[in-house]
Amino acid sequence: MTSEPFRLAALPTLSRATAARDETARKDPERLDRLWKAGRVLLVDKQGRTPVRDGGTALAPRPALAFADERPAEAMLLGEQGDESYWVLSSDEELRPVPAPPGAWSLWAGAESADGEQWHDLRGVGSLLDDTAAGLFTTAVGLVNWHARARFCAKCGSPVDRTAAGWASKCTGCGREEYPRTDPAVICLVHDGGDQVLLARQPIWPAHRYSVLAGFVETGESLEACVEREIAEEVGVEVTDIRYLGSQPWPFPRSIMIGFTAAADPAAPLVPADGEIEHAHWVHRDRVVEALANGGQLPDLILPGETSIARQMVAGWAGR
Ligand SMILES: [Zn+2]
Repeated sequence: MTSEPFRLAALPTLSRATAARDETARKDPERLDRLWKAGRVLLVDKQGRTPVRDGGTALAPRPALAFADERPAEAMLLGEQGDESYWVLSSDEELRPVPAPPGAWSLWAGAESADGEQWHDLRGVGSLLDDTAAGLFTTAVGLVNWHARARFCAKCGSPVDRTAAGWASKCTGCGREEYPRTDPAVICLVHDGGDQVLLARQPIWPAHRYSVLAGFVETGESLEACVEREIAEEVGVEVTDIRYLGSQPWPFPRSIMIGFTAAADPAAPLVPADGEIEHAHWVHRDRVVEALANGGQLPDLILPGETSIARQMVAGWAGR
């Protein structure tokens, strides 16, 4: 079964970025010291939240010199944009929780700091930020998450030192170096070659939320083989005509989502994986179009959020 190809409706929100990643600067201490003096710092807390203003449409970085005159060893360089450099520091600031809006993931709940700025996570505000801010916040969360989970050498167990302005670590015992890790996951929109798309939901999701299928790539496995295996495991159907759509970093805590499309026979019985998929069903294009026109949701169908690549996949297919 083949069908007319389609594209993502737009560049995924977290794939947007404009700041220059300057690898040479990361290994040049004098240059890093100079960049710090005119730098701006994003704070990111343990829940992956950062201060935002203007309803989440802008980040609220602080001047680097407000933290320290000299570049702290834990400061990580995100990149350079025009005359400015951007850095990230982990924050332990105590925050007051603010309830999440109805239907939202609990993770999206914001928090308010003493100065009235709101702290939000990347899933909540990633689609509201401009290209520069979205790229900076995405990279910041990825670096903070990696360091928080890789404090000891995977080979000998000794503590590691942060090096290269946050872009590497070096073992204090055996000297082994490591770089920020990213786990590939495939995400696939399965269609019937006509007007139906296969949408499914996990039991832990908010009621009525549906998305396309996704899963982690196993070691020794190609991306295409992973698509075939994941769809078969999750809903019991065989797919053909696998095509690449695009990708998006997804640092929760350290993935990249690699988007595909594939075709399946809607007459084949759906067998949702026990405990993993609560419900899967074929949905007509008209309903998806209606949901998209209504902000992404109908009373019984909530589409993936605007921060996810899944949203651009579904919208791209629906608008073909
Ligand atoms: Zn080691």
